[in-house]
Amino acid sequence: MPSYSSQTPEFALIAKHFSRPTKRAALGIGDDCALIDVTPGKQLAISTDTLVAGVHFFADAAPEALGHKVLAVNLSDLAAMGAMPKFFTLALTLPHVNDAWLADFARGLFRLADQYEIELIGGDTTKGPLAMTLTVLGQVTPNEALQRDHAKLGDDIWVSGTLGGAALALKHLQAQVKLKPNVLPPALARLHLPAPRVALGLRLVGVANAAIDLSDGLIADLGHICTRSQLTAVIGWAKIPLHPALLSVGPRVRMASALAGGDDYELCFTAPLSAHEKIREMSGDMGLALSYIGTMRAVDSTSNGQSGAPAVVVIDERGREMTAAEMGLHGFDHFLTTSSSK
Ligand code: ADP
Ligand code: MG
Repeated sequence: MPSYSSQTPEFALIAKHFSRPTKRAALGIGDDCALIDVTPGKQLAISTDTLVAGVHFFADAAPEALGHKVLAVNLSDLAAMGAMPKFFTLALTLPHVNDAWLADFARGLFRLADQYEIELIGGDTTKGPLAMTLTVLGQVTPNEALQRDHAKLGDDIWVSGTLGGAALALKHLQAQVKLKPNVLPPALARLHLPAPRVALGLRLVGVANAAIDLSDGLIADLGHICTRSQLTAVIGWAKIPLHPALLSVGPRVRMASALAGGDDYELCFTAPLSAHEKIREMSGDMGLALSYIGTMRAVDSTSNGQSGAPAVVVIDERGREMTAAEMGLHGFDHFLTTSSSK
């Protein structure tokens, strides 16, 4: 344990819960900065995400699950770039020091960190309303990252796993729906213990053109690929892989959860037709469903012949093309809603 550990409660807290022997960093927790070696010929992929109590999670949420989730959502960003996880920092804002809470939080955090061999190299600890900010660092080969602006005309659109489970679990916790005991636990697991698709992201390098992780809902997130790539996405409602819990609710909630519900942390990616077989093979190898859901096409022109805006178009069960707005759906946006659920 570092010698500064007993100087103040803040350092004691860091030493007790977050300092571990450094494995990969040249210099870990304890100095003004951490030092890491950068692999020659590689680029660093860097991403930050904040989780705020009362906004992203309930203030009384189980700390072990919270430790998992705060790292999982950041690992998900690395996955969506096709980056190999390496290091992370943790900025914690705590209303007070609760040792039992911190021990549980650290257990959830480090269990996932060890699984993905990502090392905590520093952070910050402050007093205030409960919030946590993680910065993750990963590694990619130049020109190989799965950028949002790299989707190509005619690409197939794919999505991993199933969608809507996390959003439906949240609706249950907010008493907007009541899920039966047989479907509730798997839905809650999707919300509280998301599995970052790191292995998939790494395997998609050189296969997929563009990727994004689904944090704000399929329509909103696929919409980012569309905007950045200046293309329109056409997806089939019937092709969307639904979380089993969605079959127990009505069609409106089902559609809203699958297309506009957040927090699933699956990957949505686009790939050329020629990659179809390879992706199917990958799915079998990994035991992870990969579903073909649509195609990237040119942006529609407007009635006066000008190029319109990129959009996500959904083919409904009657074969009609519907825009998200026509379906009354939109993804989550912090500044567009007064909801305190995220
Ligand atoms: P400084 O005053 O230079 O910002 P701090 O006193 O904030 O340093 O932190 C001391 C050391 O502990 C630094 O190496 C910092 O990275 C690390 N640290 C602080 N908070 C955390 C935390 N929540 N998790 C991991 N490391 C932390
Ligand atoms: Mg500091």
